Amino acid sequence: MSGHTASHGPVAVVGAGPVGLTAALVLARTGVRVTLLESRETLATESRASTFHPSTLDLLDELGVSAALRRQGRTVDRVQWRDLDGVVHAELDYSVLAGHTGHPYRLHVEQARLTPLLLAELTATGLADVRFGTTVTGAEHIGGGATGGVRLRTEDAAGRVTVTRHPYVLAADGSRSRLRELAGLPGAAEEYPDYALRVVTGTPLDELVPGLAPLSYVRDARASFSALGMPDHWRLIFRIPRGTDRDAVLAPEAVRARVEQALPGAAGRAVRIAEAHTYRLARFLLPRYRAGRVLFAGDAAHLTSTAGGLNMNCGIHDAVETGRALAAVLRGDAPGEAALDTALERRRSVVETAVIPRSEARTAGLDSAAELPARLASLRRTAADPRSAVDYLIKASLLDVAPRPLKGDAHADLVSQAHR
Ligand SMILES: Cc1cc2nc3c(=O)[nH]c(=O)nc-3n(C[C@H](O)[C@H](O)[C@H](O)COP(=O)(O)OP(=O)(O)OC[C@H]3O[C@@H](n4cnc5c(N)ncnc54)[C@H](O)[C@@H]3O)c2cc1C
Repeated sequence: MSGHTASHGPVAVVGAGPVGLTAALVLARTGVRVTLLESRETLATESRASTFHPSTLDLLDELGVSAALRRQGRTVDRVQWRDLDGVVHAELDYSVLAGHTGHPYRLHVEQARLTPLLLAELTATGLADVRFGTTVTGAEHIGGGATGGVRLRTEDAAGRVTVTRHPYVLAADGSRSRLRELAGLPGAAEEYPDYALRVVTGTPLDELVPGLAPLSYVRDARASFSALGMPDHWRLIFRIPRGTDRDAVLAPEAVRARVEQALPGAAGRAVRIAEAHTYRLARFLLPRYRAGRVLFAGDAAHLTSTAGGLNMNCGIHDAVETGRALAAVLRGDAPGEAALDTALERRRSVVETAVIPRSEARTAGLDSAAELPARLASLRRTAADPRSAVDYLIKASLLDVAPRPLKGDAHADLVSQAHR
């Protein structure tokens, strides 16, 4: 690492969510010292993202955590579109992705299962100072050129203030990013016309509904929803028009009626509902992923509908690509800063051209009984044509826009250069 880096202290990563932890690990693995600042006292345990796409599993493999994650998850080998009468209109098998990824399947597992694995690997590098219960409350740029950096002000739970200096700060502090606000960047997200209702059941739905795939999209003029099989439960996700009163939607009898409509006959009645909750769906894209020496990644930089399960996956891709580019700058590689800018612009453009449109396409036209037959016919054509099926799954998995794992020599080179 270059001299100025050492004199300015380690890179600060703000936020110990999946994105901040991945970025910190990528940096530490290339020999960069990091300080990871997290306002919570422990890692988050809430149920949030549940889907890991093949592109993300390839990258997590490089970081040494995908095998342990897979052991805790449910491997999903096909995606299915069906109607309420049980007619399967289309089914795509992930095995067609063999040759495009080392993981031709998606993995259903809570994101809270990933973060402890990343933290353990990060700690094992010996290059990370991880500070829980530490909230960033101030950030200002100091100096310029090679000696420039950022002065961070943090506060612990007891109100004790600490000021530290860093050559760069990577802000992975989530959708309500304080760093974004401190940098004076816009942060207002645009809400979608629907919010999501998630119903959780421990009842094994695939035993009640013949042939139900662990990733099923029910598309029907009477009710459209997604069914996701997790290792120990199933989730049904419905889209609810934004004006609908949430208390009415969450009333136990309303949830029960919705589930019985979604799974007609005895199947609906046999479902034991464990919990139901709603969450908002919003779209946001930061105009630029950096403000001087503060770089943005993950939910701090972009949000989209949870349809397709892309946002966290894209955030992990941000962390890898930005982490690699920042490591190169700190090593003093020739195109350093320019390459970092290119990487950040590419990450932003992936959201604009792939993540947001693909997520929105997943649910477009579902509310129109007139459009539904054409959409189902198009999916049937995709499933019937092997090349279209591969293309569909590559795009759904972000394999065409994700950073690729560094193989053999390239990876060894990156690590050894960092230790020169
Ligand atoms: C219900 C739900 C379902 C979802 N399903 C999916 C899915 O299936 N697939 C998918 O890809 N995505 C999904 N998402 C989105 C996914 O959860 C997020 O994209 C992901 O958590 C983003 O990770 P992150 O690390 O950027 O942010 P976060 O996970 O939000 O982490 C940010 C961290 O920063 C910390 N922090 C914030 N401010 C400060 C500060 N000032 N100082 C220090 N620390 C700070 C926070 O405490 C937090 O730990 C879902 C989201 C929700 C809500």
